[in-house]
Amino acid sequence: MSDYVLALDQGTTSSRAILFDHDGRSVGQEQQEFRQIYPSPGHVEHDPADIWESQLNVAKNVLRRSRIEASRVAAIGITNQRETTLLWERDTGKPVCNAVVWQSRISTGICQRLEQQGVEQRLREITGLLIDPYFSGTKLTWLFETIEGLRERAERGEILFGTVDSYLIWKLTDGKKHITDISNASRTLLFDIHQQQWSDEMLEMLGVPRAILPEVVDSSGIVAETDPAIFGKSIPIAGIAGDQQAATFGQICYEPGMAKNTYGTGCFMLMNIGEEPRLSENGLLTTIGWRFGGKTTYCLEGAIFIAGAAIQWLRDGLKIIAHASESETLATSVSDSGGVYFVPAFVGLGAPYWDAEARGLAIGLTRGTTSEHLVRAALESIAYQTRDVLSAMNRDSGINLAELRVDGGATANNFLMQFQADILQTAVHRPVIQETTALGAAYLAGLGVGFWESQQEIAAKWTLDQAFQPQMSTADSEKKYTGWLRAVDRSRNWVVE
Ligand code: ADP
Repeated sequence: MSDYVLALDQGTTSSRAILFDHDGRSVGQEQQEFRQIYPSPGHVEHDPADIWESQLNVAKNVLRRSRIEASRVAAIGITNQRETTLLWERDTGKPVCNAVVWQSRISTGICQRLEQQGVEQRLREITGLLIDPYFSGTKLTWLFETIEGLRERAERGEILFGTVDSYLIWKLTDGKKHITDISNASRTLLFDIHQQQWSDEMLEMLGVPRAILPEVVDSSGIVAETDPAIFGKSIPIAGIAGDQQAATFGQICYEPGMAKNTYGTGCFMLMNIGEEPRLSENGLLTTIGWRFGGKTTYCLEGAIFIAGAAIQWLRDGLKIIAHASESETLATSVSDSGGVYFVPAFVGLGAPYWDAEARGLAIGLTRGTTSEHLVRAALESIAYQTRDVLSAMNRDSGINLAELRVDGGATANNFLMQFQADILQTAVHRPVIQETTALGAAYLAGLGVGFWESQQEIAAKWTLDQAFQPQMSTADSEKKYTGWLRAVDRSRNWVVE
């Protein structure tokens, strides 16, 4: 009897494995952090061996500790930190270099060069993305320009490229499968989201040899079998998606116009826009959500770099709170932020501004300002940034959202959730299950092997924990938001050479 689906969630700071039963409930969970490597300011790497070993450990441990035999696992679903770039040798599996992590700004110079070449519009049309070191493509350009002899070896077919999903599957199949799913492919800057294939034009623009690319597969359906030596029996791999796409699937955003926002270190909002890609005119990305059963679902995406991380900064930088959860007590001890706005542009601003030169500020300070006001303003900034992105989505899609589904660590903060509903003037819905990323991967895998029959069956499992309805008047909400826009304006273009 196959009673479970195993989700492998390979994140930026930890690897997790969660077993889900047929009701979509977690019956066992393991997590292991791994090493972050910072070779130079702004550059972030992972050792591929750390990624693989931590992921393998948690997968084996969750089965052992839950006393569940591999034969009772119907399928494995994989979800992963996106854009992180790996290269390894086809013959030996040996990594050529460390994984270049999505956060790394190492390819900033290459991005500046592309901007000067005036290719941004063409790049956007093909990939739905924009020029930023965030995506895999320019990381590859950088690797090919800095590692001697790499290009020649790659052209001879000796080198393989993959995002983390590809690498894990290559390892799980003992080198038999070199594949990636379409949602991950759509984050590389090398993929034509209209034709749904690797783009020769982008490969040429970025100087990337075609021979290194994995085969692109659907997000749901059996695509590989694990090597029997790993779990004692082979298990089908039947679901793959990048973490934010998986969370969107796990939040059951199956209809065009449905959106989810994940409140973690940063915020990632994705809106399902249906079966046709549409390019944003308001600073958002167009990305592939998932593809299976002959149907491709596209999403608009807004990435906010600093959200929960602003609360970490209050804790570790300013030391005015001891735990993130304390931010709620302090924020609600004052009736408002006392006119203070805080713009957490610590690493510039992401969507919809994409301003790398912006920096953080607190404005509206008076002799009456207290740390409580500042804490409140920091929490409010998360909600304001989300409104910036949602407004852009509304403008791009012409859809006014009926509800926003939320997940991630900072959604534990009820003050933030209520303020979010007030500032959006839209209901905010928090589900019982917060592990939506892993759950989305499990759902894709379970659908792929018939463990679950249909998306409809899965949709019925989504259960509300709490709904936050707007309580603030529209006039008050607009007034506060206008103040935010003025503050953001002042944070922009701050860094000068
Ligand atoms: P990630 O997956 O990006 O590491 P998580 O979803 O685990 O993020 O959420 C952790 C983030 O949420 C941290 O940045 C933390 O500061 C923030 N956070 C956690 N609890 C709260 C809270 N009660 N109020 C506000 N922020 C919180």
